[in-house]
Amino acid sequence: MRAIVVRAFGGPEVLTLEETATPTAGPGQVLVRVGAAGVNPADTYIRGGSYAIKPPLPYTPGRDLAGTVEAVGDGVTALKAGDRVYADGVGETSGGYAEFAVCEARHLHRLPDRISFAQGAALGVPYGTAWHALVNRGAARAGETLLVHGASGGVGVAVVQLARARGLRIIGTAGTDAGLALVRAQGAHHALNHRAAGYEEEVRALTGGAGVDLVVEMLANVNLDRDLDLLARGGRIVVVGNRGRTEIDARKIMSREAVVTGVMIFGISPSDLAGAHAGIGAGLENGTLNPVVGRELPLADAPASHVAVMESGAQGKIVLMP
Ligand code: NAP
Repeated sequence: MRAIVVRAFGGPEVLTLEETATPTAGPGQVLVRVGAAGVNPADTYIRGGSYAIKPPLPYTPGRDLAGTVEAVGDGVTALKAGDRVYADGVGETSGGYAEFAVCEARHLHRLPDRISFAQGAALGVPYGTAWHALVNRGAARAGETLLVHGASGGVGVAVVQLARARGLRIIGTAGTDAGLALVRAQGAHHALNHRAAGYEEEVRALTGGAGVDLVVEMLANVNLDRDLDLLARGGRIVVVGNRGRTEIDARKIMSREAVVTGVMIFGISPSDLAGAHAGIGAGLENGTLNPVVGRELPLADAPASHVAVMESGAQGKIVLMP
């Protein structure tokens, strides 16, 4: 089969397309014919070799994938050949950037017919993280005001859709006009440009000066101190993304009796993970969740996909189509 192989940690150029042996499903595992693989920022951190997850070399990247069950290993009864599935991105896998991938059966979930494989590849890490941030750590309640700081990317779109279905009032940010239009189309009540001077004043004005109840933050090293300024008394900030150190005035936490917390999807408990994908499955079924695919690229363009996912101007997910 064709697969992307990484033989040394490094830049995007270490992602090479090779002919490799098709893996086989062992006990408790499933062989999936990959329809699409999601490209996550974490894939680039892992490829660079300085992330907490460091696979033995060589390896095939890609934890998020959707496709069709090709074969099941011993002991797998919940799935059969031909079933449409997506991976939750948390379990062990032989790698989604390939024509076939082996996944643990318990980390695969049914993909409804109306959701394409490209959309299915946008579900695992982004929607799992969004659910974990919004529901488990953020304790979002209907009627609250939510700031999705970075709403145009894979996780942000998922947070907006989940929050809209749960009755929150949503302010989402993006860095381009196309991103802002996308954020509005996904259900945000207001969309603001996080590159425009003074947009924080608009957040304050939209809450009548009271501040937002909850922030889901995609770039904490840039925004965390300002998020605290925008927070209502008793508000919560859930950090999802961070790419460097930052300085905050802790007095702002004290005066608001605020909570600053974070999520790490790869460390989620089995019960929180099961809850997240039960909820996501319900949203796919009732039509409130509709993953947005911004770019579909062939497997050979994996290096370009890793460059693109780290650039600004997100419009939903980037996926690879084997
Ligand atoms: P993505 O699809 O590349 O989206 C990145 C988002 O960040 C875009 O909406 C982008 O907006 C926004 N952004 C850029 N500059 C910003 C700024 N100054 N302020 C606020 N937002 C800004 O990535 P993703 O998959 O959604 O992931 C988002 C972040 O969360 C990444 O850092 C990723 O590593 C992290 N993450 C963490 C977990 C976890 O378990 N903690 C799980 C998944 C992802 P524009 O492009 O429109 O400017």
